[in-house]
Amino acid sequence: MRTRPALALSSFCASAMRAQVLQAARRPLELRELPDPRPGTGQVGLRVRACGVCRTDLHVVDGELTEPRLPLVPGHQIVGIVESLGPGVERVQTGDRVGVPWLGWTCGTCRACLQGRENLCERARFTGYQIDGGFAERTVADARFCFPLPPGFPDLQAAPLLCAGLIGYRSLRLAGDAERLGLYGFGAAAHIVAQVARHQRRRVFAFVRPGDEVARRFALEMGAVWAGDSSQTPPETLDAAIIFAAAGELVPAALRAVAPGGVVVCGGIHMSDIPSFPYAWLWGERVVRSVANLTRRDGEEFLALAPRVPVKTQVTPYPLESANEALEDLRQGRLHGAAVLDMKEGTSPS
Ligand SMILES: [Zn+2]
Ligand SMILES: [Zn+2]
Repeated sequence: MRTRPALALSSFCASAMRAQVLQAARRPLELRELPDPRPGTGQVGLRVRACGVCRTDLHVVDGELTEPRLPLVPGHQIVGIVESLGPGVERVQTGDRVGVPWLGWTCGTCRACLQGRENLCERARFTGYQIDGGFAERTVADARFCFPLPPGFPDLQAAPLLCAGLIGYRSLRLAGDAERLGLYGFGAAAHIVAQVARHQRRRVFAFVRPGDEVARRFALEMGAVWAGDSSQTPPETLDAAIIFAAAGELVPAALRAVAPGGVVVCGGIHMSDIPSFPYAWLWGERVVRSVANLTRRDGEEFLALAPRVPVKTQVTPYPLESANEALEDLRQGRLHGAAVLDMKEGTSPS
């Protein structure tokens, strides 16, 4: 019988790290010892300080996103310190603190890339999905997709900016100049978007799971002018709505809440089926659209804007060992704000 490499490592290799590994969909992550990843051409090696936990991680673990590289280290909201540089890296130096987002690699040559829509690159690879991510003590990333992070944000508070913040910002941009903005699902993304929206002098109407009084109060604390159940009609007609919850039935509900010409933006990567609805609810030039991934321009714009708001992220930290608990708390809707794995307290075997 062969010895599994992860076990052999501790005896033969001094340079190892701990990582949470997905072996197959619908199985808990397993804490494993893996060889330190080494940066290839154009990559940086990172000591991970914190990594946000996103609903997309849950969709990967639960098998709702069906094309992960397996085995996989999930996590795509990475805050890390550059420890080593692969050949050809110029714009990043060792010691830099950087953020690594979901968009991990693009081809640069397909039609979408050439049109400035790299979020739609047909060969794109995503961090914590096709590329090992940040639920680990060390990782590597393509230097071109690493962002410098604003200094006013400690590691834990910076992590949720990298997906909840970035995708939230892109969703908000695609909602246009809406003054009355609905947010359906008040989790990590919405709590950031609400702050940015208020800074932009919009009014936020928050919709939470029926009966979730804690989330309702949290939305009001984050600047919503009204917060109620997703089954309720808001007190005013909305100009646009963003849906962060993965529930398809919210699409017709949001369409009924927006004025003619209003847009309903679906901000999640996965959603349950949308029930059929009368054409009259779409009539009046209402628009339903999705938001896919991010561009580096979104990252640069949002990370420049976040300190000016200033965005204050509310985080619940978990040690690396407790990644499964963090995912379960997210699955059960027990979190208000963002879950973040905190790697600073961990003990490294190397
Ligand atoms: Zn491309
Ligand atoms: Zn995400």
